[in-house]
Order: sequence, then C-alpha cells, then structure tokens
Amino acid sequence: MPLSPPQNHFLNVPTPFVAGMAASGALLGPYLDNYHSHYHVLQYHHPVHGPFDLTTALWTPPLFALAGVLIGYLYTVGDRLLNDKAQIPPPPTPTVPFTLTSISFFTFQYWLSGILSINNVDGTTIFLTMSTMALLGFLVFDRTIVGFWTSLATAIGGPLIEIGLLSTFHDYHYLNSDFGPIPGWIIPVYFLGGPANGNLARAGLKALQDKSICPTCQNSRVQPCVNCDALGYYISYNQKINCTCCNGSGQTVCRLCFRTLEIENSPSAVREFMKSRPD
Ligand SMILES: [Zn+2]
Ligand SMILES: [Zn+2]
Repeated sequence: MPLSPPQNHFLNVPTPFVAGMAASGALLGPYLDNYHSHYHVLQYHHPVHGPFDLTTALWTPPLFALAGVLIGYLYTVGDRLLNDKAQIPPPPTPTVPFTLTSISFFTFQYWLSGILSINNVDGTTIFLTMSTMALLGFLVFDRTIVGFWTSLATAIGGPLIEIGLLSTFHDYHYLNSDFGPIPGWIIPVYFLGGPANGNLARAGLKALQDKSICPTCQNSRVQPCVNCDALGYYISYNQKINCTCCNGSGQTVCRLCFRTLEIENSPSAVREFMKSRPD
C-alpha cells in the first residue's frame, strides 16, 4: 500500500514561496502604480526614481511585497481548505503563459485606468469600465470560489489601507477623488489584483511542488526491498523464507525520503514517519 506523502499543516507555506511572492510584489507593484503617477492619477510628496522611468515612494515596494504575500497566501490556504475538487470549477492549470497573460491583463487594466483618468473621463465611466474588466478578468483567469473571496477581500482591504494611509501618513494624494480621499474606480482595479497574484501563487507553488517530488519513490515513500528483490520472501535450502527486512511486504521505507526527513525534521517527525511505514 503506497503511503501518502507527509502532509504539511494546511497553514504552512514553503519559505521560497513567501520570498517569491514578496519579490514579485516589490518589483512589479511599483511599476503598475507608476501608471498612476505617470498619468497624474496620484502624486507622491517625496518621490524617488528608479529604472525604466519609475516614480514611486520608498515605502511602496514593501507594501506591495506584503500585498503579494498576503494574496498568495490566501489563495494557497483557500485552495487547500476547499481541497481543489470542492471548487466549482477547479482552479485553472497555472501554466506559465496563462499566468503571464493574467498578469498582463491586470497591467492593461491599470494602464487603461490611468489613460482614462488623464483624458478627463468621468469617474463613473471609469468605474464601470474597470468593473467590467475585473469581472471579465475573473471569469477568464480564475472563476474559483477561493479566488472570488480573496479578490473581494483585496478590493475592500486595499482601498481601506489607502484611506488609512492618506488620512494619517500624508505622503501622497489623489488628484481626482470621488470616494473619500480615493477615486472609487480603484476598487475594481484592486479586485483584479486577486487573480493576477493568485495565478502567480498557484504557478509558483506548483513549480515548487514539482521540484520536491522524490526521484526514488515519486513520493510514495516506499521503495522495493533490496533484500528479497521486492518478493517478500526468498528461497533458502528449498524453503520459502519470509523476508525479515520488509516483513514479507516486499517494500521498505524510501531511504532518500527517510534521510531528508532525518536531516530536516525533529526525531519525533522521524518516529511518526516510521510508524506509518508499510508492514
Ligand atoms: Zn524484503
Ligand atoms: Zn522517496
């Protein structure tokens, strides 16, 4: 009987995943936001400049990094909680082209909001345009329950954080606001940040998991017993003798997995693993 791979707690995510989401947020976020400073949607009071004509503030990269990690984390934990099959429909396969197209569509929406704003299109029209794009983007690039709730949380949480920042921090301001200190159309723009970050998270996690498949046992955690050639017995003096190495099962615990577990985990984790070995 093949063993299921040792399961992490559903709240745990790999460190490279967190680092990757933070890095992409810190690098991509300010460039998306750059459309808004470039097209005079907003203005930073202490701007800093970067490569490719970037205008931002010192505090935006860490904030976008946090957003990337948070959205990616909610997608990951949500997917695990709903166990994929409970999602209607199941999450899209996050291939590289699919993920890049999803991010590009979000980038296009960001850019278009800036373009419409600088051309003095009224706030309601921009709001309706951005909402249509958010809905379209969600239907094409996500369509999952987890994606919907995470994107909704982003669309509410993001603007709330901005309102908080604008009323306490005073380091930037919007030039045309119609929803307190922010333009209302920023809400559907935030929403589409959900699927863009979510697909990146799903693709990144899948890449990490593919990498972590054991080359010896393909994560079955067992390998054929070498003592009995996986038969479970051997013949000695014309007598069939039960193999004591594998207790007659023909399988032993995968040595490579066991060594990795021994190195990376506590002795109690090894004991747990040994208890679950096949007999
Ligand atoms: Zn054996
Ligand atoms: Zn293995």
